[in-house]
Amino acid sequence: MPKSIALIGGGPACMIAAYYLSDQYNVTIYEQGKAIGRKFLVAGNGGFNLTNAAKDEALRNAYSQDSILLDALKEFDSGDTRNWLAELGIDTFIGSSGRVFPEGDTKPVEVLKKIKAALKRKGVNILLHHRFVGFDQLNKPLIQHKESTFSLSEDKFIFGLGGASWSKTGSNQDWLKEFEKINISTVQFASSNCGIDLNISQEFLTTCQGTPLKNISLSLNNHHRKGEAVITKYGLEGNAVYPLIPAIRERQKQGKKVVLYLDLKPNNTVNQLKAKIIPGKTRTKNYQYVFNLTKIHIDLVKLTLQKDAFLDPYSFVEQIKKVPLHIDSLRPIEEAISTVGGIDFQELNDFFWSKKHPKIGIIGEMINWDAPTGGYLLQACFSSGVQIARSLLTPL
Ligand SMILES: Cc1cc2nc3c(=O)[nH]c(=O)nc-3n(C[C@H](O)[C@H](O)[C@H](O)COP(=O)(O)OP(=O)(O)OC[C@H]3O[C@@H](n4cnc5c(N)ncnc54)[C@H](O)[C@@H]3O)c2cc1C
Repeated sequence: MPKSIALIGGGPACMIAAYYLSDQYNVTIYEQGKAIGRKFLVAGNGGFNLTNAAKDEALRNAYSQDSILLDALKEFDSGDTRNWLAELGIDTFIGSSGRVFPEGDTKPVEVLKKIKAALKRKGVNILLHHRFVGFDQLNKPLIQHKESTFSLSEDKFIFGLGGASWSKTGSNQDWLKEFEKINISTVQFASSNCGIDLNISQEFLTTCQGTPLKNISLSLNNHHRKGEAVITKYGLEGNAVYPLIPAIRERQKQGKKVVLYLDLKPNNTVNQLKAKIIPGKTRTKNYQYVFNLTKIHIDLVKLTLQKDAFLDPYSFVEQIKKVPLHIDSLRPIEEAISTVGGIDFQELNDFFWSKKHPKIGIIGEMINWDAPTGGYLLQACFSSGVQIARSLLTPL
């Protein structure tokens, strides 16, 4: 029976695993940076979605369909996350689209402080400036601290080194090659939950950057997403864009051109809009008022229509419902909110342990799964952390 566990990486996946494992084991977190939970804090800079209140199928359908992760989500779901947070003194509430936020004006740093305090109370040893640099000949992790490098001697080693974006928070892909050296196969990282570069007038983007497009819908083949997007200096980003990223990525992989269709009036049919036209009277100068559009909407439609078609209100109306947006590329990994790629699920057993190296476990975003924003990312990190802890705790 193992007595000591090393958790390598101080993100949310390892923090929750440490919390539960410390009931029965000596637990040490080895973190390369000067603090744990740096990406967790960054996540709190916008809306801090600690999980998503979606339950059962609705929760699991948000993820790439890998049975190991889906089982972990069954065992520890968003309700369990909220209960765990409540146990730590962090009350939460459900906001729009099921996103779960900390109650009141609790700041992300206070949430992290409470998690850290709980780990301290439970005797978890946190060693900062301790960097994983590879494996020794016995496949034990090598840790570099100041001038020295040493092999870990704990009974089990659980890695939660994060994905590949926002390297300033400590998550980079440096570890990828070290896992390949011990024959654990990996999948190349790619951006997820990121912006898209559009092939559209740069002048328009520069003038309109920062403008939100509210209550819109975006479509790619049979994928449709209502929500909001923001015009950026390169194209678009936002919650209506992110869920379409996997489909965009897939088409680009196949070498296909990708055109997204923007519906500026998802709550109106073309016929309803056409009914507003007064023949002979509805002219371009009235479009904004008649169809309740902004100047930016009009400019955007104008960019994508021939002049004659723009002057014809019937053609204009049809275009409002399907403005073609030609995608050049996804934004770089470094900027993405999350990444796909990393450790291949094929390498793991049902409890996130390596099949080839049974003393090595892998959790969190360093594994190849995908999910949209809205609390689902942290939930997967928490569920995988708890699942690996359960495999070592008695009773299970
Ligand atoms: C801008 C932004 C906003 C986000 N907002 C949300 C949100 O609202 N809701 C949500 O659910 N998710 C959100 N996320 C995603 C979420 O923060 C991540 O999915 C989550 O933090 C991943 O957790 P993790 O434990 O797998 O890895 P990380 O949090 O990345 O932690 C990995 C840790 O491992 C350490 N490490 C890496 N390499 C080594 C090494 N060689 N040796 C030792 N330590 C190492 C790193 O320093 C880091 O501390 C957001 C992400 C970003 C970038």
